[in-house]
Amino acid sequence: MSDKPEKFIDENGLRLDGRQINEIRQMKIKIGVISRADGSCYLEWGNNKILVAVYGPRELHPRRLQKADSALIRYRYNMAAFSVEDRIRPGPNRRSIEISKVSREAFEPVVMTHLYPGAVIDVFAEVLQADAGTRTAAINAASIALADAGIPMKSLVSSCAVGKVDGQLVLDLNKAEDNYGDADLPVAMTQDGEITLLQMDGNLTQEEFKKALEMCKEGCRQIMEIQKEALRSKFADDQLAIEIPDEMVESIDIAVTLEDVVEEDGETEVEAEGSAEEITKSDAEAGSEDAEIEDAEDEYSEQNLEEADADEEILEVEEESVDLIDEDAGNEDEKVATEGSETREQ
Ligand code: ADP
Repeated sequence: MSDKPEKFIDENGLRLDGRQINEIRQMKIKIGVISRADGSCYLEWGNNKILVAVYGPRELHPRRLQKADSALIRYRYNMAAFSVEDRIRPGPNRRSIEISKVSREAFEPVVMTHLYPGAVIDVFAEVLQADAGTRTAAINAASIALADAGIPMKSLVSSCAVGKVDGQLVLDLNKAEDNYGDADLPVAMTQDGEITLLQMDGNLTQEEFKKALEMCKEGCRQIMEIQKEALRSKFADDQLAIEIPDEMVESIDIAVTLEDVVEEDGETEVEAEGSAEEITKSDAEAGSEDAEIEDAEDEYSEQNLEEADADEEILEVEEESVDLIDEDAGNEDEKVATEGSETREQ
């Protein structure tokens, strides 16, 4: 292991690898790299190299492990023996078991497991080269691989860590910062900023913790953009190759269509099939979730009403401007006619 550097941040505010304190490392993503898997992703983040394969949803064996109302998610984080400088002993250890558990929990709130009772979704995350932040890198790759497998999720999950070196908070720790820094705070969150993983090593004051969380949020926002872009480019290519037959198009059940948004006496109603009410984790949570869903639907209706109002306003403004144009045009016509008559008179 290399020695502890004297300084982690130089007089120009740059880190040992030349990054700003709030800058993430370069990320490269390749989707669909394992043809036998249902979804897969190869991700490079700085010097981290991670391969994730997703299998499922498929029937879970032995059957006694099956859950009657939802699918089971299994997540295995593994470091290849050659992934670090000193070879590590192959097989699970305390660290990999812990990371597997917290990473699985990072996905449980977003994957719509209730759609697949009795099934299992297996996520295998293999660290081929490790350089700090492997759990966060694996979560970012797993999120893409799950999407590649076509598994319905409420949101992608993005993950990054903030640490503290030379008394300053830094985003996305490199190896030296991770090994010798004063703190390490890996976080994973959804598009809405809902935190699905939060761990912490070392010490931070309350103020530092709040700031660190904000930095993580911004890091995750940037990562989610990269993830979405990678998925967009993969599926844009695929769509060119797939032609959906007409008879299939009719049978595709879209949750909310334009026709479902019915306007009655100025009130807008949303009739969604397979509404989010079905998304229940447990009876205890069902009540609060229903309330949230009602709130969300109310918000949606309000939004539609606001949009309708805005549309009306736009129409009125447009009508006014048409009137003005007509008037102007009329004036112009008159002017032309007057000018014409003047010319003729001359
Ligand atoms: P993360 O990789 O999520 O940051 P840790 O903070 O536990 O997780 O590890 C930091 C880094 O230390 C890893 O990315 C890896 O480069 C290195 N590392 C972890 N475990 C070992 C090990 N058993 N042997 C050598 N290096 C390791």
